[in-house]
Formats: sequence, C-alpha cells, structure tokens
Amino acid sequence: MSSLATGPVLAERMDRVRAAMAAEGVDVVLLSVGPDLPYLTGYHAMPLERLTMLVLPRDGAATMVIPRLEAPRVTEHPDVFTLLPWDETDDPVSLVATLMGSARVAAIGDHTWARFLVDLLHEVPSTAFWRATEVVGPIRMCKDAAEIEALRKAGAAADRVAAALQRGEVPLVGRTEAQVSADLSQRLLDEGHEKVNFAIVAAGENAASPHHHPGGRVIRAGDLVLCDFGGTMDGYCSDITRCVSLGAPAMEVAEAYAVLQEAQAAAVAASVVGAACEEVDAAARDVISAAGFGPLFIHRTGHGIGMEEHEDPYIVQGNRQPLEAGHAFSIEPGIYQPGRWGLRLEDIVVASVTGPDPMNRADHALAVLDV
Ligand code: ZN
Ligand code: ZN
Ligand code: ZN
Repeated sequence: MSSLATGPVLAERMDRVRAAMAAEGVDVVLLSVGPDLPYLTGYHAMPLERLTMLVLPRDGAATMVIPRLEAPRVTEHPDVFTLLPWDETDDPVSLVATLMGSARVAAIGDHTWARFLVDLLHEVPSTAFWRATEVVGPIRMCKDAAEIEALRKAGAAADRVAAALQRGEVPLVGRTEAQVSADLSQRLLDEGHEKVNFAIVAAGENAASPHHHPGGRVIRAGDLVLCDFGGTMDGYCSDITRCVSLGAPAMEVAEAYAVLQEAQAAAVAASVVGAACEEVDAAARDVISAAGFGPLFIHRTGHGIGMEEHEDPYIVQGNRQPLEAGHAFSIEPGIYQPGRWGLRLEDIVVASVTGPDPMNRADHALAVLDV
C-alpha cells in the first residue's frame, strides 16, 4: 500500500477531506485504527491498547499522536502531517484534546476503540462527536486512478486462481472443503496477495448456505462446488465466486445457473454512473424472480470494496444512492435450494464514465469437469 500512498496523493486526499469538513461544519477529524487512517497517511495502526490518532483540523496542520515505540514504522510525509510521539508516562488522550483546541464538532473514526472516545468525552465535554464516515466515507467511496489499478491487479490475481479451479488444476474429488480452502488460499498468496481474507468452499448441499464455513465434508464426483475467495493485495481487496460441477450438472442446476449468469450480467450492465444502487440490485433480482427463483435469492446483490472487503456502497434494495465514477462494488447474485445445492456468481465492478469496468474476467460459465 505504501507504493500507492505517495505524498502528493495523500495531500490531495486530505484537501478533499478538509473541503468536506468545511461543507459539513466539522472542525476536526480524529482517526485511529481502521482504514481511514492509512487512506490519509499511508500508515496502518495496529489495534493496540496504546493510542494512535491523527488529529486533522479543518484549518491547520495535521498531527499524528503515536506511541514512541510505533513511530519508526511510519513513513513520514512532513508536508502532509507531523508526528507527535508520546512516552509511556504521557496521557495521549489529553494530547489529542490539546490539539483539538476549541473544536465544536469533531468527527471520529468509526473503528476507534470506545475506551478512547469515552476518555475524550471527559476531556472535551462541550465538543459534539460525529462519525468520520460522514466526512471521509463519500471520498473513500470514489476510488482514484491508483486505487482502481490496485483493485484491477488484485482482481486479475484472483482470476488466475479461479481459472486454475475452472481448468481442473485444483484437486477437488477426495479432498475436504477445508483442504481445498487452504489450497485456494495458498494460490492467492502465490499470485501476489499479502493476505487472504476468506476462502469459502462449499460442496453439494453445503453451498445452500451462502457463508458456509469450509469443513470436513469430503468432495465427491457429482458435487457442485461453490468457491468464494479473496484477499488483500497492495492494500486493496479481491473477491470472486465461481462454481464448478464435478461431472454433468443435474438439469435443474444447469437451468438455475443459466438464469444466474443472465442475472449477474444484467446487474453488471446496469452498473452505470447515475443508476441508483437499488436499481442495480433490481436488475439481477428481476431476472431471477421472472424465472421463479426469487425466494431463493436470499441476500443483497453486492457490497462496496476497497481497502475493506465490505464497505459502502451496498447494492441493496432501499439504497437510493446514485453510482458515481470510481464506486467499486461486487455483483454477486445467488440461488440457494435449501438442503440441496447453491449457486453464486461474483465479480468486482467499478462504475466509470465510460460504463461498467469489471475487475474480474474469469469465465462466467459453469465449469464442468470430467471426473
Ligand atoms: Zn458474502
Ligand atoms: Zn465473495
Ligand atoms: Zn463479495
């Protein structure tokens, strides 16, 4: 992620946050653990009992209050923020309170530990606290060019793992779901991910549970196997789902998959700038409902993705937010026949002024492997 977060990029992001603070009437933004801090500083704070907090005033220089022993891990950008290391006997919360000055409205990172906020409330009783998501969220949602390239790279790496799965290069028959999950995880790392976030492998009846935890179920000839995996590469997340059939699929499965593939393609095509998130959801849902599978599509169509695996915007009924250029999200409809089988097809897509820009290009057809 450090390769992406150059000084000028960070400075530009901070300018945009300051403009949003002015528009919203926020005097200071306070960021601790969570993705907002690395987005603005390039530094990922560990979730420690010692406080790390960026104090970003609307008018004035930004300061990162940081435990002295953690300070060497920070790549400094003195033109963007300065470091204020604190020693073991200092009170970091009062340092933050001093830097806040007479701020009336503070926006604090959603992931900040409650203990620090509770202490701050005592230090600055007349300050109103909002969630930083209200200020930083809309900015983080619109990915810049470097972020989109990072998502594309992560997506291409996940695609290579998916393609190996679809070509039959990942042994399935006779292995447990957990073994295949470990195999897919290793392949994500081999393809350049620094971290695996999940690798769902669900065979046969287990695939009817969308977030099945891969276990001791042995995969057999004739199974339909759903694989949904992703990780983090250069600080940005991948997430892909593909299904493989070990032998010719049952007629009802093949028919449902054809509907699913059409629904997924319809939602990708609907992912244009200006479309409401709920319209994208409806594009998939309408196809599935028209085919009679509506009650079997039991979750939203997608979630935003970026530094976090799940973030705004959510592609769900009731979300009227219009898509903007740079919004990145999954399109992952599914059809689940309880106790019998489940199907899901997932790509990451970025909305752009030239239309939907898919980050995943692995074959969308149901891979049928000889067994
Ligand atoms: Zn999920
Ligand atoms: Zn997924
Ligand atoms: Zn997903």
